[in-house]
Amino acid sequence: MLKTMKIDFANLKLAYQEHKEEFDQAILKVCGSAKYIMGPEIVSFEEKLSEFIGVKHAISCASGTDALLLAMMAINIQHGDEVITTPFTFIATGEMIALLGAKPVFVDIEEDTYNINASKIEEKITSKTKAIMPVSLYGQVADMDEINQIAERHKLTVIEDAAQSFGATYKNKKSCNLSHIACTSFFPAKPLGCFGDGGAIFTNSDQLADKIKSLRVHGQTRRYQHKYIGIGGRMDTLQAAILDIKLKYYEKDILARQKVGQLYDDRISSTQKAPIIKPDRTTVWAQYSIRVPVRDKLQQNLKEEGIPTAIHYPKPLHLQECFDYLSHQKGDFPIAEAISEEILSLPMNPYLKVEEIDYIADQLKRFTNT
Ligand SMILES: *Cc1c(COP(=O)(O)O)cnc(C)c1O
Repeated sequence: MLKTMKIDFANLKLAYQEHKEEFDQAILKVCGSAKYIMGPEIVSFEEKLSEFIGVKHAISCASGTDALLLAMMAINIQHGDEVITTPFTFIATGEMIALLGAKPVFVDIEEDTYNINASKIEEKITSKTKAIMPVSLYGQVADMDEINQIAERHKLTVIEDAAQSFGATYKNKKSCNLSHIACTSFFPAKPLGCFGDGGAIFTNSDQLADKIKSLRVHGQTRRYQHKYIGIGGRMDTLQAAILDIKLKYYEKDILARQKVGQLYDDRISSTQKAPIIKPDRTTVWAQYSIRVPVRDKLQQNLKEEGIPTAIHYPKPLHLQECFDYLSHQKGDFPIAEAISEEILSLPMNPYLKVEEIDYIADQLKRFTNT
């Protein structure tokens, strides 16, 4: 019998403890300055963000969801427009398209990466299509060269939903610098997380950056002069101060996550392997998700042995009630549907020890007879 261990899924507590003094000091400094909104920490964090990614403009905002909304507002996505995306993602991707009155047009995913199948995009393009929004699921970017080429042929904008892939690379360039606009999230459980909600938008276009900065503050160009209809979508100064510290250690965290991913890969049966990572890219393992045919029972068994798991995502977007009006049905995107029924995310964080990964792999073997 294996001695029961208690595994932490994302280990946010340890992420705080590891640099507690630095975080506490930075938080107290912001409190002392009382510059809670757009304080100097915002400016300096944005500079470091753009430097880290190698992109001209990094614009912080209140969440990954707001990042997607602001990016689409910046290119005037509106009622009647169509935006092509994947049905196998977090709801916000399709939701923000719909919130602007546009239609999310789904394209099924690849069987081996769970990312949008670029070879099926072109057949979905119509005269109403304005943008393509690939999602870099679980930390690995989609086939961006192919997607950018399609976009160029049809004069479309590409917006990378990089909420899960901050720090990942594609052909030696970083995610968030692979398309016209990119959006990421600093939600606590993302690879680079803050202590609440946060997000950022990236672009090399001066014009788009100016507009996004304005949209972030109610469309204002100068105080009380409103050029556009915008939102209140700023990042809190406190979160910028926290992220500034986290970013310093982030390369180390990425390497630790990749090591965990590699250890899982080595120990888990090939029939359950996580998505394959294509040779021209690296992942930051936002999730380490495997496919298991009988999921509910396994989740319960693992839970009893101290191993928390999660499902990203149990229901593809086209089958969500909020999208009933699109009149999709089961069978429309068979790969997304099949994978949503079998996918299971294992604990993933930079602090997992070899013994813990061994333990998780052993328990998996025990309950799945592999
Ligand atoms: C987390 C996530 C978002 C939304 O980010 P929030 O910061 O939670 O608003 C959007 N898209 C994807 C793919 C995500 O994983």
